[in-house]
Parts: sequence; structure tokens; C-alpha cells
Amino acid sequence: MIVKELKPEDKDILENLRINLDKNNEFMLGYPVSKDFDYQELIPFFKFPINNVGDPFEEGTNKVQTHFMEREVVSFFAKLFRAEINNYWGYVTNGGSESNLYGLYLGRELYPKAMVYYSDATHYSVRKNIELLNIPSIVIRSQKSGEIDYEDFENVIKLNRHRPAIVLTTFGTTMTEAKDDVSKIKNTLIHYGIQDHYIHCDAALSGSYGVFVEPRVPFDFVDGVDSISISAHKFIGAPIPAGVIITKKSNRDRVAKGVSVIGTLDTTITGSRNGHSVLFLWYALKKYGFEGLKQRYHHSLEVAAYCIQKLETIGIESWKNPGAITVILPRVSNEVILKWQLASQGAISHIICMPNVTKIQIDELINDMVKFPVIEQPVAVHF
Ligand SMILES: *Cc1c(COP(=O)(O)O)cnc(C)c1O
Repeated sequence: MIVKELKPEDKDILENLRINLDKNNEFMLGYPVSKDFDYQELIPFFKFPINNVGDPFEEGTNKVQTHFMEREVVSFFAKLFRAEINNYWGYVTNGGSESNLYGLYLGRELYPKAMVYYSDATHYSVRKNIELLNIPSIVIRSQKSGEIDYEDFENVIKLNRHRPAIVLTTFGTTMTEAKDDVSKIKNTLIHYGIQDHYIHCDAALSGSYGVFVEPRVPFDFVDGVDSISISAHKFIGAPIPAGVIITKKSNRDRVAKGVSVIGTLDTTITGSRNGHSVLFLWYALKKYGFEGLKQRYHHSLEVAAYCIQKLETIGIESWKNPGAITVILPRVSNEVILKWQLASQGAISHIICMPNVTKIQIDELINDMVKFPVIEQPVAVHF
């Protein structure tokens, strides 16, 4: 077998990559990824080709896997989201997008004639998922806060009461971290007599701290959802993107098909699945626990409040939704967007105070905003 030493120029490429990642990692305040993780204890596991192919709740042929940890991770979130003790199921996905795809897939399998409803503040991956699944859909307006417009939803539902409904709600929208109230959605569906309905909650960003949010926003199984998705690399943090889908076991059973090659049920979207991600997530949950997650959330809230207050001292008015860790402000200059990787859309930019973000970083960002202010574009005059 030929295995060569890296050439010096290739070693340089690696070293430069490391330096660049190190630098850019430090100045990242616009995307919801926690970077304060330490998985060094798991390095020995990188010598194993861990593959969680198949259903984590079924015995398969492959033994180089972390299914028992995956079941623990699923149970942790099922409990957090108040799923029925004997009627939950789920698995660790490649991210929130795959989790959403799974939720919509279950909804469509249950109600093949359904219409999907989602707000215009919904994550871009959802539209693509709906196209992949070929389900007809209607976009509902959102309010200025980013929360779904319940009145618009009601008006649309009124006109479509003859059809089963799949509603995709968002718990933490991409731009303003708005949270749709699942109870209100559920009540509207019941009010118009739509018995055949399925609610999937996209909680990619805020699901991991949803139970700590005050005032509480209904989003979980007791509130009426059929499935919930989260991204694991966001609030919890991981070197590899990952997500979780939690659903009712009774719904999953309807799509379960046995496959003899792997000797188990093929209930997941992909075949081979990342067993290391499961290991990271299991490890993080053991290290933080319920109390640790709560503490991370409170730290984020404190930094977000600090951020709003500091912006005010330089004359910039910003705001955030109740219980949110995302601060919305008028669009900052391109220099600041580039350096701090602040996601910006139209007239607004946002700063997401993930658990790793410190007050010192906020101070530095604000210094840069003073140094690189927004230059008013001269208004073009046409003759
Ligand atoms: C991040 C995010 C997604 C997509 O999750 P990935 O893990 O990036 O696939 C979906 N919805 C919302 C609201 C998100 O914040």
C-alpha cells in the first residue's frame, strides 16, 4: 500500500488552513454556532469507522456503532420536549435540514393529500424539502417580529378546510429568532374542523433551550406537535454538523420497512449515518446536563441584554424578541459584516449571542462599528 508523507507545500496548505480557521472562528457573531466545546477526550474514537446505519432502536448486523448512545440522546430530547413516555422515536441526523425533511416526510405519509403551510420567515431549507417531497404548499405572512401571522393563517385555513393540513412552525427563526405559538396554530386547525393535521416544529436554533424560555412559548408534544427538529451544532456545539429529529413512535411505525442487507429497519433518510456525531452529542449532554444547558442559555441572555445596552450608548437602536438571544440592529457597514460575519438581510443585521460569545467580544464589535460606520449612500438624482 502506498502511503506517502505530505510534501512540504501540502503541509503549508494545512498550516495556513489552521491559521485561517483560527482567525475566522474568533470573529463569528452572526451565525448560530457554539464554539466553546472540548471533545479531546473522544480523540481515540477517531480510529474507528463508526457507522450508525439503520434504526437506532433496532438491533442490526453492524456492531461498530453507537446506537445505545443515540437512544440516550433521543430520550433526553424526547423528555425535554415532553413526548409521551412510551410513544416517541427519533434519530441523530446530519442537521436541522434533514430533521425537517423527516418531519415533513412523516406528515406526507400520514396525509398524502395534505397542504403544507409555513411562514415567509421559515428557513430556506424547508421550501426545498417541500419540493423534494412534492407536496403542495401555501406561504403564510409573518409579522414584523418574524412570528407567523395567525390571522393570515386563519384566513388561509378557512379557505382550505376540506384538505388535511401539515403545518411547519418555527421555534427560533433564522433572522429574528421569533417563535411560532403551536397552541394557536393547533386551536385554529381544530376550530375549522381539520382533524387530519400534522404539526412539525422546526426548533433548529432554539429547541435546545426552549424549556427555559420565559414567558414560555408553546412548541412541544404536550402543546400539540407531532415532531420536532433541532440542530446539534448550534446551541450545543460540535465540530461536525448534526441534528436530531424526535417524533411519535406511532407515526414512525407507518414508514418502517425492513431491509435484509443491514438486518434492521430502514427508517432513516440516509443509509450510512455519522456515529461520531452521536458520540459528541452524547458526551456534550453528559457534560452539561439539564442544568448546564440552562446556565448556557442564561449566559446568552445576559450577553444579549448587554449588547443592546452597549449599542444604545453609541446611539444605535436594537431590539430582540422576548427570551431571544439574537439582537437585531440596523444593517452595519460592509467592513463590520465581513469581519464579524454578521448575517444581514435587507435593512437589518443580527448578532447571535451564542454561549461562547463574551461581553469583551461585544465591546470589540462595537469599537469596530464606531471605526467603520455606515456611510449614507448619496441619493442618485435623475434629470
Ligand atoms: C439552522 C436552521 C435550519 C437548518 O439546520 P442545519 O442544521 O443547518 O441543516 C433549519 N431551520 C432553522 C430555523 C435553522 O436555524
